[in-house]
Amino acid sequence: MNVHFDEKAPRDTQVLVDTQAIRENFRNIKEMCGETTAVMPVIKANAYGHGAAEIARVLYEEGAVYLAVATLTEALELRAASDDYPLFILGHTPDRLLDRVVENRITQTVFSFRQAELLSALAEDRGVKARVHLKVDTGFHRLGTDDVEELRKILSLPGLEVEGIFSHLALAGYEDDMAQFDKFMKIADELEKGGFRFRYRHIADSIACVDYPEFRLDMVRPGALVFGLKGFHKGHIEIRQAIGMVTKISQLHRIPKGEGVSYDYCWKAPKDSVIATLPFGYADGYPRNMRDKGYVTIRGMKCPLVGVLCMDQCMADVTHVPGVSEGDIAVIYGDGTDNTMDIQEASELAGTNKNEIIARIMARPVRVYY
Ligand SMILES: *Cc1c(COP(=O)(O)O)cnc(C)c1O
Repeated sequence: MNVHFDEKAPRDTQVLVDTQAIRENFRNIKEMCGETTAVMPVIKANAYGHGAAEIARVLYEEGAVYLAVATLTEALELRAASDDYPLFILGHTPDRLLDRVVENRITQTVFSFRQAELLSALAEDRGVKARVHLKVDTGFHRLGTDDVEELRKILSLPGLEVEGIFSHLALAGYEDDMAQFDKFMKIADELEKGGFRFRYRHIADSIACVDYPEFRLDMVRPGALVFGLKGFHKGHIEIRQAIGMVTKISQLHRIPKGEGVSYDYCWKAPKDSVIATLPFGYADGYPRNMRDKGYVTIRGMKCPLVGVLCMDQCMADVTHVPGVSEGDIAVIYGDGTDNTMDIQEASELAGTNKNEIIARIMARPVRVYY
């Protein structure tokens, strides 16, 4: 595995992002979906830890029709970076903040006539149209409504451009997914009966857009897939993980058998040992419950983390690593080759999913794009 450590960066703990992998993943998704399906990459949660500003730039360059985020704060951060970005908020925006959505030309998810009316009025005040997508609840019971009459009333509001309609799958299994899809299509068809046409009908996230080609419709909303994380089962697409995380050994301690390490001496050296101090901790977004399970890779060898992980630092047992030195690179998250831990393995060890492992990586480790 190639490590693109940046010697000029102001910190040793670095998140390395392979932007070429993201470009290629995105191109492969576009190719898989074909001409008639638009791809709206989801770059919420600081672009799944990869750094929203840079990833937005890359994906906009690659021709993304929209950049989707979860919250207004995320959208405003991207709006500050460029006036040109087509931005989409997947989540709910509170009433008091809706004027900022209009002011910043952000496409907003709506699911109630009450909020739609408010948005419409705010847009009319500004002499513009607020662009919205209707959110249909087909069973997930998170956001959305299945009240067709309420949705129909939204269509005729003068200050709105109702550009799309969408729903989200629970991915509970083929039959349940199919039932959600059918319900979605029925509601969309019902609303289109009067001659109205949605430009975009969409329901597929990363997994669905690979496993269920028939669910791609006019648009797909892949997040994890863009970043090269595989969750699909039936379909296939060539993608690769774009993120890595590395650091350097800040200090080595040679300790005799029986010495404790870190808070509470939860780990005691079973023999004379060499312990490496590493300058990353749970405040960088590394799971604290990796204790006794996690490892870093130094000189191609797995080195178990020992003792309690601290906020900004942790310790690894490097007794078995020939020639180990202060300043050696330690791979925290790699691509799975050369004894490195990839995101899939990290998620299994930490007892969570891949998205959580990367979304929780904080802004504090410097991002290095190559
Ligand atoms: C986060 C999110 C997505 C993307 O999910 P992935 O599983 O990462 O592809 C798509 N749609 C909605 C509504 C989301 O909240």
